[in-house]
Amino acid sequence: MATLDLVIEPDPRYNSISDRLRIKAEPVAEITEELQQLAQDMRETMIEEKGVGLAGPQVGENVRLIVAHIPAGYEEDVDEDVEITLFNPEIVKAGGRETDLEGCLSFPDLVGPVERYTWAIIKGQDIEGGKVRFRARGVVARVLQHEIDHLNGVLFFDRMESVGLLFYPHELESEEAEADAEEAPTA
Ligand SMILES: [Zn+2]
Repeated sequence: MATLDLVIEPDPRYNSISDRLRIKAEPVAEITEELQQLAQDMRETMIEEKGVGLAGPQVGENVRLIVAHIPAGYEEDVDEDVEITLFNPEIVKAGGRETDLEGCLSFPDLVGPVERYTWAIIKGQDIEGGKVRFRARGVVARVLQHEIDHLNGVLFFDRMESVGLLFYPHELESEEAEADAEEAPTA
């Protein structure tokens, strides 16, 4: 087990970012031991960095692999720990729309309002290569959409009306709003 270096980019409100997070990641044809190890290392890195999701390109790996870890009680509708490792994840069907704050481990501390589907049916392969298909909702659906976007070079602020809607929680005047914003899921 090892933690990996995250691909970190500057505040896109004021800087142009590199193309490292703009690649379209390659499908995984065979789930090798090396890729299983990568998944474990990504999981460890995500937890160390206090994120709830992580995608291959965020650790400089050009592979369609995502991990997520959302503990029970993270939000009201999360009844039990959610642990996901998915190769070649795809959204099969999705519906409902909701805007909520989210952040990204590759843009430390920045958050902003992103409209996402409220539920999604997702398919892919688990760490052993077995086919899986399940329905996610709420914050779990949000995190998985964020990660699948990463595999296509799409970043969370691309889905905002304007990159100018990004902010640092400490820029808010109300302490309560600041505390709320600090709790936005980071993935
Ligand atoms: Zn992200």
